[in-house]
Amino acid sequence: MSDKINLETLYGENVFTISKMKERLPKSVFRNVVNVMQNGGDLSPEDADVVAKAMKDWAIENGATHYTHWFQPLTGITAEKHDSFITSPDEEGRAVTSFSGRDLIKGETDGSSFPSGGLRSTFEARGYTAWDVTSPAFLKESGTGVTLCVPTSFLSYTGEALDKKTPLMRSMEAVNKQALRILRLFGDTAASRVISSTGAEQEYFLVDKDKYLQRTDLIFTGRTLFGAPAPKGQEMDDHYFGVIRERVGEFMKDLNVDLWKLGVPAKTQHNEVAPGQHELAPIYENSNLATDHNQLIMESMKRIADHHRMRVLLHEKPFAGVNGSGKHNNWSLTTDTGENLLDPGTSPEENVRFLLVLSCIIKAVDEHADLLRQSASDVGNDLRLGANEAPPAIVSIFLGKQLTDVVKQLIETGKANSHIEGGVLKTGVSTMPDFIKDATDRNRTSPFAFTGNKFEFRMVGSSDSMADSTTTINAIVAEAFSDAADELGRADDFELAVHDLIKENLSAHQRIIFEGNGYSAEWVEEAAKRGLPNIPSMIEAAPALTTEKSVKLFEKFGIFTRTELESREEITYETYAKKINIEALTMIDMAGKQVIPACMKYERDLANTIIAVKSAGATFSAETEKLQKIADDIDEAQNALDRLRELEKAADGIRDEKELAFYYKDTILPAMTALRKPCDLLETMVDKKSWPFPTYEDLLFEL
Ligand code: ADP
Ligand code: MG
Repeated sequence: MSDKINLETLYGENVFTISKMKERLPKSVFRNVVNVMQNGGDLSPEDADVVAKAMKDWAIENGATHYTHWFQPLTGITAEKHDSFITSPDEEGRAVTSFSGRDLIKGETDGSSFPSGGLRSTFEARGYTAWDVTSPAFLKESGTGVTLCVPTSFLSYTGEALDKKTPLMRSMEAVNKQALRILRLFGDTAASRVISSTGAEQEYFLVDKDKYLQRTDLIFTGRTLFGAPAPKGQEMDDHYFGVIRERVGEFMKDLNVDLWKLGVPAKTQHNEVAPGQHELAPIYENSNLATDHNQLIMESMKRIADHHRMRVLLHEKPFAGVNGSGKHNNWSLTTDTGENLLDPGTSPEENVRFLLVLSCIIKAVDEHADLLRQSASDVGNDLRLGANEAPPAIVSIFLGKQLTDVVKQLIETGKANSHIEGGVLKTGVSTMPDFIKDATDRNRTSPFAFTGNKFEFRMVGSSDSMADSTTTINAIVAEAFSDAADELGRADDFELAVHDLIKENLSAHQRIIFEGNGYSAEWVEEAAKRGLPNIPSMIEAAPALTTEKSVKLFEKFGIFTRTELESREEITYETYAKKINIEALTMIDMAGKQVIPACMKYERDLANTIIAVKSAGATFSAETEKLQKIADDIDEAQNALDRLRELEKAADGIRDEKELAFYYKDTILPAMTALRKPCDLLETMVDKKSWPFPTYEDLLFEL
């Protein structure tokens, strides 16, 4: 057994927390920093120097040698460039370290190799990173030693966002402002901020590192491009919440310690539905911090898995035939006075405010279902969403039995005319019951489900950043709040107007509410009848970014400019084409160099066996039949391989990014499927010992 863990002393050990700042900064500087953290604005250069010095001293005391601006470019993963603290040694040859306010606040980055979708032409390739004061600096321990990481945004010199953090923070500001307008209308003058909160449940697979390294597809694409199903999959439901294996448990323990030190509130861990699949959920935090922390979770997972000779697979669909991995975005809005706007509350006033908020969210999701779908799109997620797996590509809202009933009553009652009396609101509807937060009443097939005092958006892919989906949710809800505040601000009788507006929102947007099985074929039909969008792929979802509706929304709140949206759409096509191209090339490589040669060798052995059996005078019909089948499948595989090669070559001639992306989806992907089919069949017939790489069975069950 390794050392005992003391959670209390461990927690936040590697974070330059507010309490550490309080200890180390002069009072006035500390106050200024906290003020900027809470209310925005800039730190003065003098204060920045003081903070930087304190941060550096703390970092060096804790073994740090380098610092980095840690940022989140549009690749979806984090980026960092390390600088050591060292400056020119003094005359006596002693090391001198420095880290100034300027180093802390602003960094320059040659960003030409990060995707920008044309926002930053290469002659003006530099972007800059700017300290996000609201996310604390932390120390990362890794193979390179200890590094001070300063969370930053990444922008072009003309101010366009080149990252995921900047728009997220802008969206948090937007929803804060609009939600406050609503609160003021309800007479709340105490709250001064409304904070969007996120709890990110993270699913992942673990596989043995040595086996992983024998699979080119896992190395290059993060998923298996070949593989016949193992005799057992997830049909026994014996993995979900099952006993955690020792090796996995040791990994989880180290991971937790690593995360706790980083101030990431890792809370729950369990086995997931598929064999080899697990989940980690931290306690929810403000969305910006939660998004940073989710990045740290993914980074730490990779690093710690390696210490246990394992690899973590964050791909949305690493294995065909068993569940893929997602990331649930649990989202709510909380005031700085501690109220959750998504909590139905206990008094009639709270009930009405909740119903207004709810009706605004319903309106927002219905009006921007396409954007919400887009915000969760990712190349890997295409294999999950709409592929009969959690959740479908159609956006709908699940409210649960009790709330659906309330909504129904609200829609059915006429204009507000009754009074609050004996538990009946003006709308004629009963005041809300206490909600039973019963896990069995949960609809696991809904992409956007109300779970007691939050919404759970379940479409997000496991490898994706939390930023995109949260940015979109905040933006669309801010818009609905803004519309509501405009209308209510004009009303003579506020109470009547609120009730009318709730009813209006619910009536106009009730089509988005769906309580049934989201995986069923009937829902696909029903949703089409209701006019709900069903967008199967990432590249078909991308145009949602640049519709007039979307540009109007994002520009109104200063979250994205039209140019930023256009660049993001373009990057989507580029990313898609590149990733599928890598997958196709990997398949060509594996089929050509590994699968087909191994099958041919087995084919020759079998042919020799037949000759031997024949000369020995025994019958050999089973052998011949098998040989023929194998020969046929090898033919089919070889033809499919040749065809895929040809089609890949033809891609070189396509210049337009969007056209190329669709070529990969409509032409290359089917050719990949055609190649996989005979190869997977061959796997079931060929001697296991001569199969060139670990199988599903080896990967999923033998950890
Ligand atoms: P569930 O069983 O619905 O998945 P959990 O209580 O396990 O619910 O929570 C899942 C995630 O949701 C956790 O990360 C948790 O911290 C987060 N969460 C809980 N309450 C809220 C809230 N009000 N707002 C945002 N996230 C929340
Ligand atoms: Mg959940």
